[in-house]
Formats: sequence, structure tokens, C-alpha cells
Amino acid sequence: TKSVCIITGASSGLGLATTKALVDSGEFHVVMACRDFLKAEKAAKSVGLPKGSYTVMHLDLASLESVRQFVKNFRSSGMPLDALVCNAAVYFPTAKEPTYSAEGFELSVATNHLGHFLLARLLLEDLEKSESKSKRLIIVGSITGNTNTLAGNVPPKANLGDCRGLSGGLNGVTSSPMIDGGAFDGAKAYKDSKVCNMLTMQEFHRRYHEKTGITFSSLYPGCIATTGLFRSHIPLFRALFPPFQKYITKGFVSEEESGKRLAQVVQDSSLSKSGVYWSWNNDSSSFENVLSEEASDEAKAKKVWELSEKLVGLA
Ligand code: NDP
Repeated sequence: TKSVCIITGASSGLGLATTKALVDSGEFHVVMACRDFLKAEKAAKSVGLPKGSYTVMHLDLASLESVRQFVKNFRSSGMPLDALVCNAAVYFPTAKEPTYSAEGFELSVATNHLGHFLLARLLLEDLEKSESKSKRLIIVGSITGNTNTLAGNVPPKANLGDCRGLSGGLNGVTSSPMIDGGAFDGAKAYKDSKVCNMLTMQEFHRRYHEKTGITFSSLYPGCIATTGLFRSHIPLFRALFPPFQKYITKGFVSEEESGKRLAQVVQDSSLSKSGVYWSWNNDSSSFENVLSEEASDEAKAKKVWELSEKLVGLA
């Protein structure tokens, strides 16, 4: 029988390419956890996924109610859970004003971090029950939140500061919409959310790896300059970014290649070490990458974990 993997945001880009790679391997049934049911069905058909090789289930990460409902629906399907991939993300680089999630949290941190934080915490017990020899929980990271790299040093840089905005609820009323308490900046909010993703993976590893045997990992799949992530960027940027990445920085990877990389983190026995942030060389060999000072700060990881627990109603 096949293993079961849930992938959030499997309706496009990296999530769809990973779904395709896992289904093609013949080892996985993929649960595509998506906010737009019809779009996900169309996407599955567009890459030729055979009927029965995947299941679309509704999940809107910008609503904690929806996250809880998804977990209920998944459980009532009776499927086991062998791997969870937290992949979905939004990015608002040109937004002048913040927008908010159902619970009133700034939308990029709400979607990319808080929704996934609740989802992963709730599904931990399902993963624990899996009979698979290699159960995995993966949170997709990024280089842009990593200030020890060239790309991570393009302003505005990620910086969670003392987390006073997160502590206040990121609501733009009684607190700043930004984690560090500063003025709204859409590009920075995305990078901050990615730092939270990387800190969360490591905190999961410290708290639960020994106890559960689950492998916790994060990764930077390469620059996939063609995905929907850049949909709200200005047209000139969208036209120039792919060739720039291809010919100048040489960090460009196709959606297909990035999907194969993430699928490796899900299923390869050589990538089963827990607590690792994986990256790939230009020849597509994988290596354990080093995170920036902030993205590997244990005290900050603990703080983000505890504040996030309060915001999503786990504490
Ligand atoms: P896409 O925009 O193509 O995919 C993002 C996915 O997230 C879409 O399926 C989207 O759904 C989904 N999504 C957005 N909001 C929600 C929500 N509220 N609830 C459920 N699903 C939601 O971008 P990518 O494939 O590029 O991004 C995937 C991951 O890769 C992200 O974590 C990103 O940070 C990371 N990444 C991307 C890089 C790149 O160069 N592209 C580089 C490094 C990391 P819908 O189809 O309905 O819009």
C-alpha cells in the first residue's frame, strides 16, 4: 500500500510539482490541501495525475477554523498520515497597506506561519501513529529569510526583533502588523514569515524528534522564478526576474526540478536526518545548509513557538 502525504498549496508551483513527483514515484497518495477546490482539481488534471492517485481537500490557511475543519475532514477519511509538507505561501511585495486573515492577523505571517503552525501541531499526533519507517514533517523555508546569504541581504532584511508585534497579535490596531513592531512592509513580512518557518522546524526537532522518531526538515528549493508567488509583483519585475535568475545569479530552477528536490526530502532515505535545512548545488546534489544567526537562534525559536501557541489558541 502507498504512503500518504499531505501537501498544502498543491494547486500550483512547487506544491503541484512535488505532488506530481511523489505520485509518479508510485509510493505516495497525495492529499492536496488547497483553498480553491476547483483550481486544484484542474491543476491535478493539467499535470496528468491519474484518478485515485490524489485527493483534494479544502484548506484555507488564512482561517484557523478552516485549519481545524481540515484536520477533522482528514481524520474522517480514515487515511493514515506518513508525511506533511507545509508549502503554501503568499507574498505581497508591492502592497502599501496590510491585509488580514479571518482572525485579524497580518495575512502573510497568518498564512505562511500561523496557519501552518496550527496545522502541524494538530497533525503531529496523526504522524506519530503512522506505521511508516520514515515519517516526516517538512516546512518549506527560503533563502530570502536567511541573512547569511547574498539574496537574504537584499533590503528589507528579515528581522523579528523582540517579537513585540507578534506578541500583540499582528492586528494593526492595538499592535503593529509586523512581527518586530515596525511599519508595514509586505516584502519584509514574507521574509519574517519564512524565518518563523525555519525556527518552527528546529523547535519541532528539539521538542519532538527523540520522542516521536519523526524527521523534521526545511529546505530552500532554489529560485523558482516562474511560480505564482510573484503574481502580485509589478509586470516589469515578472518579465525580468526569470532571465535574471537564469543567466545572472544562476540560482534558477524549473518547477519540475524544484518538485523533485522537495520530493527527495519527503521520501529519500539519504535525506532522513532530522533538524536539517536542505539546499542543492548547481549539479543538483543536496547538502545540509547553514542558517543565519537569527534563523537558528534557539531562544527566538522558543519565543516564536510560545507566542504562536497563544495566537492560534493552543495555549
Ligand atoms: P505559488 O504561488 O505558485 O504557490 C503557493 C500555493 O499556496 C498556491 O497553491 C496557493 O493557492 C497556496 N495558498 C496561498 N494562500 C493559501 C491559503 N490561505 N490557504 C491554502 N493555500 C494557500 O508559489 P511557490 O510554488 O513558489 O511557493 C511554494 C513555497 O515555496 C512557498 O513556501 C515559498 O515561500 C517557497 N519558496 C519559493 C521560492 C520561489 O522562488 N518561487 C523560493 C524559495 C521558497 P492558490 O493556487 O489557490 O493561489
